Amino acid sequence: MTVQFSDPRPGSLEPYWMPFTANRAFKAGPRMFVAADGMHYTTADGRQVLDAMAGLWCVNAGHNAPRIVEAIRTQAGRMDYVSSFQMSHPLAFVLAERIAEHAPAGLDRVFFTNSGSEAVDTALKIARAYHKVSGQANRVKLIGRAKGYHGMGFGGLSVAGIARHRRDFGPLLGDVDHLPHTHDLAHNAFSRGQPAWGAHLADELEAIVQIHDASTIAAVIVEPVTGSGGVLPPPVGYLERLREICARHGILLIFDEVITGFGRLGGPFGSGVLGVTPDLITCAKGMTNGAVPMGGVIASRAVYDAFMSGPDAAVELMHGYTYSGHPLACAAGIGALDTYEQEGLFARGPEICTAWEAAVHQLKGARHVRDIRNIGLLAAVELDSREGAPGARAGEVIDRCFEAGVLVRVAGDNLVLSPPLIITPEQMAQVVETIDAALKAVN
Ligand code: PMP
Repeated sequence: MTVQFSDPRPGSLEPYWMPFTANRAFKAGPRMFVAADGMHYTTADGRQVLDAMAGLWCVNAGHNAPRIVEAIRTQAGRMDYVSSFQMSHPLAFVLAERIAEHAPAGLDRVFFTNSGSEAVDTALKIARAYHKVSGQANRVKLIGRAKGYHGMGFGGLSVAGIARHRRDFGPLLGDVDHLPHTHDLAHNAFSRGQPAWGAHLADELEAIVQIHDASTIAAVIVEPVTGSGGVLPPPVGYLERLREICARHGILLIFDEVITGFGRLGGPFGSGVLGVTPDLITCAKGMTNGAVPMGGVIASRAVYDAFMSGPDAAVELMHGYTYSGHPLACAAGIGALDTYEQEGLFARGPEICTAWEAAVHQLKGARHVRDIRNIGLLAAVELDSREGAPGARAGEVIDRCFEAGVLVRVAGDNLVLSPPLIITPEQMAQVVETIDAALKAVN
């Protein structure tokens, strides 16, 4: 028996309602990819495109990594599915243990989800339930941050801070407040890595605590490096201050590491690289190198133990998904960790990140460039906004880059770069030259 994979039939572009996409524009000129390998995609018309986005910040080891492909194949032939409720399978335990080995000390309990959005909503629910089992049921408020992105569930959307994403979906969760973002070009333009200015912005948390009273606040959630909001590395000392204020007031600190986890900052987790340990980490994307959907929450032993010594031994946490710890996803996750470890991708971090920083900052002085930010293997090149049409110029630039064979992402006025960790110096140069040429060509 042969499974047939066919091209779209005439007219069949209609039924698929695409996420985060101008559906009408897409149908007029569909951008289709049919294969991938290492640093490249192959388009339907046979072109090779260098992937400077690691898919969607997820293919950290490059496409079709052989160990991952093999792990998925093997598991697919062995067992397709088993319920994740009241039963399990060995790979889920193996993967949880392997992830815990890489997580910061003290965080070693892993709850599996199917996406980053589910990981975030799971972490927010764990935070509230933790306080409840600890006898502090009043602690329900959740604090996010302006420009934050935490996925598309109602919980994640509520704590996130990108206005356009929230606009059509209110009312969102009520017991929420937001910290200010740390984007400030007057002080931090063209800084490399963590900007020197801005640690004091974390003190806004103290002000929020005074308004609401600490006894009502469950958790603070931030991305260690704001991603979709425009790649904003944390100012030196900022995360440390958040950590200190949360600890002092008994508030849980959640790091959303959906982007920064699994190698993106040059080590297994951003928390480790940046030297600040939260109580909960959310992750996804690089967990399986993007090969099978999967996310998770890594909890501190203290949080986990509160549930295990809580009053409800029947089900300690009334939460889970049909596909939590799915066998194929676990296989892909183990294959991904094998790849990261055996190819030294976590260890190579510092060296490759230094080369990346030097490469992207060559665009300083290029036409339209207002700022460049980088950390780990992430960067944003922020462009001057075109009068009355924010984001339009950046959109034209990435279209030109795509035509020239380099896939770059846009976020507002930012060109966003997040290549696989296997990128070579020559490919870094190709990315920079292609962007430079596109910037020269647009008005
Ligand atoms: N959190 C962060 C920081 C993210 O960047 C993303 C996705 N870009 C999510 C959560 C949501 O992940 P998913 O799209 O897998 O639901």
